Amino acid sequence: MTEIIDGNAVASQIRDDLTAAIETLADAGARPGLATVLMGDDPASQTYVNMKQRDCEEVGIESHHVDVDGDASPAELYDAIADLNEDPDVHGYIVQAPVPDHVDYREVIRRVDPIKDVDGFHPENVGRLVAGDARFRPCTPHGIQKLLETAGVEPEGKDVTIVGRSDIVGKPLANLLIQKAEDGNATVTVCHSRTDDLGAKTRSADIVVAAVGVPELIDGSMIGEGAVVIDVGVNRVDVSERRSEDSQTASDQSDTEKGYELVGDVEFESAKEKASAITPVPGGVGPMTRAMLLYNTVKAASLQEDVAVDL
Ligand code: NDP
Repeated sequence: MTEIIDGNAVASQIRDDLTAAIETLADAGARPGLATVLMGDDPASQTYVNMKQRDCEEVGIESHHVDVDGDASPAELYDAIADLNEDPDVHGYIVQAPVPDHVDYREVIRRVDPIKDVDGFHPENVGRLVAGDARFRPCTPHGIQKLLETAGVEPEGKDVTIVGRSDIVGKPLANLLIQKAEDGNATVTVCHSRTDDLGAKTRSADIVVAAVGVPELIDGSMIGEGAVVIDVGVNRVDVSERRSEDSQTASDQSDTEKGYELVGDVEFESAKEKASAITPVPGGVGPMTRAMLLYNTVKAASLQEDVAVDL
């Protein structure tokens, strides 16, 4: 019987655990604050920002928001970042990606005060992570580690194949899993678009992590018997196209109304036949990413306010 790893349940537990730390901070007169910065009016980014603000309210983190006009100069965005670096009520903030083309996202990240970099993208935080001394683990890889831990899957000694080498998922996850640490000690293969014979690399793995952005790239034939499958992908697929492709595909009413449905990078049904455990999309990695942003914000507040909390 394949275990369906319930990311919503694990994320909910993490949020509950955070409330104790938030109370400890409150007793010391500190309320953690998270700011979101949105440049432009991309609807998907707006949705992500709204969700992050709602998450904050639910656990007692104060949320702040800064809108920057999509046509503004990079200097205007940098000014907003400088203000947040100075603001004592903001312990952490994220600049929602993507930023408009005329802005260099790497330069944006370099300007974030590393102690407030709750995404964990600043070069100082990346360096610390690689050196085995992470301050803020990037939210998605950290969420994946928590999912594995909760599912009782120890990476130690396991062969892990990660498909995708992005700076926000594949690379940091690979670095975390090879660390000489209790939640590391895995042997990791990182694949990408130039990888030869991807199926051979995924089939031989004990744990497969798909972070590609290609709908259902990885099917059951690419999964070894009994492997654990973590699907990071979030892809919008046109409902009508999908229906004509496969009349058996189930879509709920809300999907139909929106005209799309969300699918992962893994073909769930065929992969489930082979896997011992698998994350669904939605309801797997996504909620964990959001929960770990709250976790990092509480950690940032603890560091800046010099209040020890149990995390
Ligand atoms: P990127 O686009 O930054 O990276 C994608 C990676 O996949 C690249 O390394 C690319 O290779 C590789 N790739 C692309 N096509 C193939 C292929 N056919 N075979 C093998 N490798 C391939 O993506 P992200 O890491 O930002 O995101 C990946 C997915 O995860 C997306 O669907 C995104 O929406 C989702 N996501 C979900 C999150 C969540 O919380 N659930 C959080 C973050 C992302 P190359 O480097 O050679 O180009």
